[in-house]
Amino acid sequence: MIQKVRGTRDILDTTLFHFAITTIKKQIELYHFTHIELPILESVDLFKSSLGVETDVVSKEMFVVTSSSDQESESICLRPEGTAQTVRAFVENGIQTVPWKVFSIGQMFRYERPQKGRYRQFYQFNIECIGSAAIEQDVQIITMLDRLFAKKFRLENYTLHINFLGTQQERADFKSVLKIFLETLQGICDTCKIRKDTNILRVFDCKNPDCQTLYVNAPHLINHLGEQSQQEWNTLQERLQELSVSYIYNPRLVRGLDYYNKTVFEFTSPDLGAQSAFCGGGRYDTLVASLGGKQDQPSLGAAIGIDRVMLLLEMIQNNITMPHKPALYAIIPLDPAQNPLALQLADELIAHGLYTETFFEGAAKNMMKRANKSGATTCLIIGEQEQQDGTVVIKDMITGEQQIIKQNNAVSFLKGK
Ligand code: AMP
Repeated sequence: MIQKVRGTRDILDTTLFHFAITTIKKQIELYHFTHIELPILESVDLFKSSLGVETDVVSKEMFVVTSSSDQESESICLRPEGTAQTVRAFVENGIQTVPWKVFSIGQMFRYERPQKGRYRQFYQFNIECIGSAAIEQDVQIITMLDRLFAKKFRLENYTLHINFLGTQQERADFKSVLKIFLETLQGICDTCKIRKDTNILRVFDCKNPDCQTLYVNAPHLINHLGEQSQQEWNTLQERLQELSVSYIYNPRLVRGLDYYNKTVFEFTSPDLGAQSAFCGGGRYDTLVASLGGKQDQPSLGAAIGIDRVMLLLEMIQNNITMPHKPALYAIIPLDPAQNPLALQLADELIAHGLYTETFFEGAAKNMMKRANKSGATTCLIIGEQEQQDGTVVIKDMITGEQQIIKQNNAVSFLKGK
C-alpha cells in the first residue's frame, strides 16, 4: 500500500474544519476584509528576498519543485507562508486603494520534523492590511483576533503575547546591543552560537532551558526605541487596555522572519503542548518597497493556524453549537426494477433543493440500515406496487411511522413536514 506523504494528513470528517473556516471568515468580513485566492506555487526568490535567506523557513524548510520536463531556470517552491505572496500580489497587480485589507485561506508547506500540531502541509488563514501606518490598525487587528478566539470559539485557555521590535533601523541597532550581551555569556548552545552571527534575535526562540536562563538578563528591545516608536508602543498598550484585551508583554517574542518590525504578537495555548502557537503576526513596514513596490507601504498581518485551532476546538467540541445539518432524504427502490424511478424521484427532490441519498444496491433491509446510519430523517420507499400506483411510502426514521402518498406530491409533502 502506498501511504500518505510524511507530515501530511487526511481530514475525513470536515465538520470542525468548515466550522473553523466559516467562523473566522465571518469575523474577518465584519471588519471589512475581502477574500482573495493566491497560487500555491511561487518563486523561491520571493521568499529569499522577504523572509531572509538565514531564516529556517528559507534555509531548511522549502519544498522546491521541478517538473520532469521543465527547462526553465526559474526556481519554484510550494509556498511556506502567505504574507510575502500577498505583498507580491499587491505590487504585481498595481493595487492603488489602500489600506488593502484582504484574507486568503490555504495550504502552506514547510519541511519541518512532524509532530502533534506540526505538519509539512498545513492550513493557514492569512489576514493582511497593506498600506496603513496607524497603530490603531494594529490594535484593531489584535482585538479582532482576540474577540474571535474568546467570543466566537469560546477558547478560555490561551495567552496573547506582544512585543515591539521598533523600526528596521532600531531593530538593527538593537542587534549590536544584543551581540555585545551574548558575547559576555559563557555556555550558550551551538545553535545559539550560529544564530548569534546569522539571525541573532532568534536566540530567544532557543528550546534549551540553560540558554533561556542565561537570557533572563538580556536587554529588552523596548528600552532601545526612538521617541516615535516608544509613543506607538505606549499607545498600543493603552488602546488594548481600553478595549479590555488581555495580553502579556513578552520581550523574547521576535518571530524570526526578517520582514517584521514594530508590533509582533502571538496567541498560544498550553493545551497544544510543544507547538503552542495557533496564531501569529505583526508589522512589516518595509516589505512592499523591498519587493518592488514604488512607494513604501507600512503594513501588518496575521496568520491563524487552522490545524491547531481544530485541535483546540476538538477539546471543547461539546460546548460548540455546530451549524444545523439539513434533513437528509433516502430513496430506497426495493428491486432494481425500480431504480429508474428512484433516479427520477431523486432528480426531482434535488431540483427542489432537498438533500438526497439514493440507494441502488442491496437487500431492502440492508438499505434501510445504511439509510439510518447515514443520518437520513426520512426514507422514500418504492416497490413494485408503488411503481404501478404512482405512489411512494414515506417512512419517518425517528418515529418509525409510515404513510403512502402520490409520487407527484413527494416534494411538497417533504417540504411541508
Ligand atoms: P508562522 O507563519 O510561522 O507565524 O505561523 C503562523 C501559524 O501557523 C502558527 O501560529 C501555527 O498555528 C501555524 N503553523 C506554522 N507552522 C505550522 C506547521 N508546520 N504545522 C501546523 N501549523 C503550523
